[in-house]
Amino acid sequence: MSDCLFCKIIAGQIPGAVVYQDDALIAVKDINPQAPLHVLIVPRRHIATLNDLSPEDDALVGTMFRRAAALAKEHGYDERGYRTVFNTNREAGQTVFHIHLHLLAGRSLTWPPG
Ligand code: 5GP
Ligand code: ZN
Repeated sequence: MSDCLFCKIIAGQIPGAVVYQDDALIAVKDINPQAPLHVLIVPRRHIATLNDLSPEDDALVGTMFRRAAALAKEHGYDERGYRTVFNTNREAGQTVFHIHLHLLAGRSLTWPPG
């Protein structure tokens, strides 16, 4: 996807603060962090929204959540707590149409979210 921000970060065409990467995904610091730790876990393959997932993606999504848990632990937030969020489409506030799992930690997070 030539006009996709996260595809460009994955391709190295624009910079990103990458904190983890492997064959399936990258994790980058959010450019506008909403908590002391705010990382986006992004699959290398372009998938626009959760609505576009297929059963073949089940393992990928599981891997994304397990990476979020590993990163939370690595930063010392596994016991304190953290939040993982996918925003999907307009009313949820999705702005980049390449799925990404937000990992937020380091402060008390209110519920329900805004
Ligand atoms: P969404 O609103 O789609 O769930 O999340 C998109 C996220 O991407 C936002 O939290 C926003 O701050 C972040 N973002 C937007 N542009 C960039 C960028 O150029 N680099 C990085 N690392 N994050 C970005
Ligand atoms: Zn993309």
